[in-house]
Amino acid sequence: MGKVYLIGAGPGDPDLLTVKAARLLQRATIVLHDSLVSREVLQLIPREAEIIDAGKRCGQKLLTQDEINQLLISYANQSRSGRSLDRSSAESPNAPPPTKSRAHNKVIRLKGGDPLVFGRAGEEIEALRRANIPFEIVPGITAALGAAAAAGISLTDRRAASQIVITTYSRGSDPANADPFAVTPHLDWAAISSSTTLVLYMPGADYAEVSRRLIEAGQPENLPCVIVSNATTPHQQIRWTTVSGLASEAKLPAPALLIVGRVATHEIQEIAATPWAANRKEPQVKPATIS
Ligand code: SAH
Repeated sequence: MGKVYLIGAGPGDPDLLTVKAARLLQRATIVLHDSLVSREVLQLIPREAEIIDAGKRCGQKLLTQDEINQLLISYANQSRSGRSLDRSSAESPNAPPPTKSRAHNKVIRLKGGDPLVFGRAGEEIEALRRANIPFEIVPGITAALGAAAAAGISLTDRRAASQIVITTYSRGSDPANADPFAVTPHLDWAAISSSTTLVLYMPGADYAEVSRRLIEAGQPENLPCVIVSNATTPHQQIRWTTVSGLASEAKLPAPALLIVGRVATHEIQEIAATPWAANRKEPQVKPATIS
C-alpha cells in the first residue's frame, strides 16, 4: 500500500532539511513539490524520479488544491493496485500526465518550510484520511525560524518578548489566505502586547500599507521591524527598519517576511530598557511574567 509523506523542505538551504526528509528525498520515486522548494533541495531527488511541480503555472491556471489532493490519492492507490495512474480520478486539464506507469510505495509531497505552517496541509490531510491513505508528516524549519536565524535575533529574547504570533498579511480573497488586518480580523489584536514578536508571512509588495495598518492597529512607530528575503539561501537579504520606516523601504524579492517587535534589532539591550507601553493597545489579559 502506498504511503504519502508530507515533508517540510525548510526555508531553502538543503543543509537545513531534517535527516529524515533528506533520506526520503534521496530514495524518492515520485515527488510533488511547491514552487517555494529550493533548487538545491530538489537536486537531492534521484534523476529517475518523477517530479511534479504542483505550483507550476499550466497555461494561466495553477493546479487547484483539489487536483493536488486527487493526484496524491491516485499515486498512492496506484501503488496499492500495482497499476498505472487512474486518470479518471485525477482528470483535469491541468493535471500533469503520469509519465511512467510504475508503482510508488512512497509518494512525497514536498512543501517549503514546514508543511503545517501556511502550507495548506490541512486539506491534503483531510483528503488522505477520507481516502484511507496512510500518511506521515515530516516537519521542516518554517520560514520564521530560518529568517530569525539569518538575522541573528531571538524571537523570544526574555528581555523583550514572551510570545510569538505567526500570521500573514496576504490580502487575497481566498479565505485560506486570511488577512489579519481585515474588517473581520483573524488576528486578535488584543492578544498582541508589548512583549509580542509578530512574524508576518506573505507581506506582499506594498510595505507602506503594511506599515500604515500596523500603526493603525496600535503598534509604536519606532518599534523595530526586520525584513528578511530569501532567508538561508545565497540570495538572502536583510533590512533593519522600524514600523514607520517600513513605509519607505524598497520591496525585497519574494519570498520575504517581516519580523516586528522589540527583538527585531541589533540593540536588544537598549530595547529591553525602553518603555513601550505608551502607544500600544493594552492586552485584555496580562501576559504571565517570565522569570
Ligand atoms: N510553509 C512555509 C510557508 C509558506 S507561505 C513555511 O513554513 O515557511 C509562503 C511565505 O513564507 C512567503 O510569502 C514568505 O513570507 C515566507 N517564506 C518562505 N520561505 C522564505 C524564505 N526563505 N525567506 C523569507 N520568507 C520565506
